[in-house]
Amino acid sequence: MRLRSTLFQFFLPPQCPCCERFSEEGKQGFCSNCLSQIRWIEPPFCSICGIPFISREVETHPCGACVPHRKYFTIARALGAFEGSLQEAIHRWKYQGKTYLTPFFASWMAEGLNRYWEPGSLDLLIPVPLHTRRLRERGFNQALLLAKDLSRRTGIPYRKTILQKKKSTVPQVNLSGAKREKGLRGAFHVVEKEELSGLSVLLIDDVYTTGATVNECSKVLLKGGAERVDVLTLAHALRKS
Ligand SMILES: [Zn+2]
Ligand SMILES: [Zn+2]
Repeated sequence: MRLRSTLFQFFLPPQCPCCERFSEEGKQGFCSNCLSQIRWIEPPFCSICGIPFISREVETHPCGACVPHRKYFTIARALGAFEGSLQEAIHRWKYQGKTYLTPFFASWMAEGLNRYWEPGSLDLLIPVPLHTRRLRERGFNQALLLAKDLSRRTGIPYRKTILQKKKSTVPQVNLSGAKREKGLRGAFHVVEKEELSGLSVLLIDDVYTTGATVNECSKVLLKGGAERVDVLTLAHALRKS
């Protein structure tokens, strides 16, 4: 099947990796229709979690969710809103195994990394780990795919073994805030603490949904000796309110 599609691609114009339509312009990458449906995150957004503000008239400041609950990470940034063609592409990548989307996502994230962090300010990329059971089901950890590709593009090393998930958790979207935090407690742990000491870490994940997962990971990494933890995700889910 794969050979057949490779042969087809040899004779046919390039396909959009998102909607799989053949490119009329003959160019590689996302087609103009899919690209136009991506809402890239630009200021103003929350200075802590990075969620974009609906009103364009406000300054960048902490949002209503970040003010009452202190976050363990310093800043979280994302490239696009989790909606439209970006949401669709992430779904196909994650649940239909279309891993050829990884370099597209990672190239956008590399741009974000250069935009939001000073050169030389990050020591290590750490992907949010999956529990081994989930990893067996899916066959890959999407955060690790991103961290690996991002490391190649930026020269910042990545480590996949320092942070591990030892407890399987239910998907957070179905839980309320307090239950979510409780359910995640003790889910992650740091091994090889000596490798983390004094480092500035960038946690990598695909989607920032409620922030509970990256916050719990940040807590554990700081406790494990990291000096500072920031977060970079491909997309940020918008609040339903
Ligand atoms: Zn397309
Ligand atoms: Zn916020």
